[in-house]
Amino acid sequence: MFNKKQDAEELRKDLFFKRKNAWDSIDKKEYKKLEKYSKEYIEYLSASKTEREAIDNVIDYIIPHGYQDINETDSTDKIFYNHFGKALAVFRKGKKDINEGLNIIVAHVDSPRLDLKQHPLYEDEELVMMKTHYYGGIKKYQWLSRPLAMHGVVVFPDNTIENIVIGEDDDDPVFTISDLLPHLARKAQMNKKANEFIPGEKLNIIVGSMPFSDDTEVKERFKLNILEMLNDKYGIKEEDFVSADIEIVPAGNAREIGFDRSLVGGYGQDDRVCSFGAMKAILDAKEIDKSALVLLMDKEEIGSDGATGSNSVFLELVIGEILEKQGITNNNTLMKILASADCLSSDVNAALHPDWKEVHEKRNAAYLNAGMVLSKFTGSGGKGGSNEANAEFVAKLRRIFDDNKIIWHISELGKVDEGGGGTIAKFMAYYGMNVIDAGVPILDMHSPFEISSKADIWMMYNGFIAFLCDVSSN
Ligand code: MN
Ligand code: MN
Repeated sequence: MFNKKQDAEELRKDLFFKRKNAWDSIDKKEYKKLEKYSKEYIEYLSASKTEREAIDNVIDYIIPHGYQDINETDSTDKIFYNHFGKALAVFRKGKKDINEGLNIIVAHVDSPRLDLKQHPLYEDEELVMMKTHYYGGIKKYQWLSRPLAMHGVVVFPDNTIENIVIGEDDDDPVFTISDLLPHLARKAQMNKKANEFIPGEKLNIIVGSMPFSDDTEVKERFKLNILEMLNDKYGIKEEDFVSADIEIVPAGNAREIGFDRSLVGGYGQDDRVCSFGAMKAILDAKEIDKSALVLLMDKEEIGSDGATGSNSVFLELVIGEILEKQGITNNNTLMKILASADCLSSDVNAALHPDWKEVHEKRNAAYLNAGMVLSKFTGSGGKGGSNEANAEFVAKLRRIFDDNKIIWHISELGKVDEGGGGTIAKFMAYYGMNVIDAGVPILDMHSPFEISSKADIWMMYNGFIAFLCDVSSN
């Protein structure tokens, strides 16, 4: 009865699941390509600090590949649809027509940040400050005592637009939120809970401290000095901030991390790492059978509501436009295309943190360097607020990824009762399509310096290509 033991190792190999490390499957030749991809990604990430910049930079990428603005062409082969410069659809026709199948990759281009308030500027104790309102889920203390840059647009009533980027060039000034010194923080901060450590109304950036003139009779002469400078350089008056989208983000470029340079550190990797991968994949996929659509959406970090968010009719609008150009105006065709589409909702996942293992469930966690990561569902508690991918769709993706030697794994966000979070997937599932979360594991998500692995982002990019190039009918 106990003789079975002799075959145990063989049997183990055959029956047990073993998570792989992506580096183990990357040889020298592939590593060169991976390095090239990472370098390009780091440049894109460094230059894309806002949703607008992320979209602008994608458009700059795709135009040389023959993609045209949908409003400027009758063709529906390679087109893009730009919505307010904050959401973008990139469509590539496959060998088959759009109504014979559609593969979608959706990601988001907005990231947690601090927005300037509509009346931001004030003077206090002869310092000039600006008030902010945080956007998305941040740990507020992470934004203190660090160089911050200002990115955005001011739109004047005559419709002219002033683009503002301050704090990225080496000789630019930066801004900062000053924290309280430890000597005096004992009562005011140290005994407080982390979410009370710095109240939202104290997230004010320092923008100046010199007077307009030495005439001390001039009221608010420090604020006046800053407004005079803004007016001189940008034509801005104080009221113009009411029609502005100005974001305060960490200053500086994304960087390689580690002696071995195996990791990427930078702001906004959630979810520009997936946005970049999706965009590169639709450009680089050699032959695609089904038509492909990459959607880069805004507002995910605040729940996807809004004209440029996923909880809108943007997707219907885009497919409707493409069909109309092909002479199809039947709404039922549109709905059938959406219901039979396959979709990767591409977003980052929480990598298991070696110092905080207690919040993860290690058998079902995402791991840095374990490759692309799928999540069958998101949400919180008893799968609340999520959609869940069908087993059939997961099986199809297993086959696609394994056939193409993509290193991947599947995970839940954390322990069942620990917290949770949603993504865009459920807004795609609304149309009846197959959809699953697919992205990369990230350490320190939503911080000003998120960490991803080069091996994972490489596997995700290749996974996207495999998905778009798949020729199976089911
Ligand atoms: Mn995300
Ligand atoms: Mn996020």
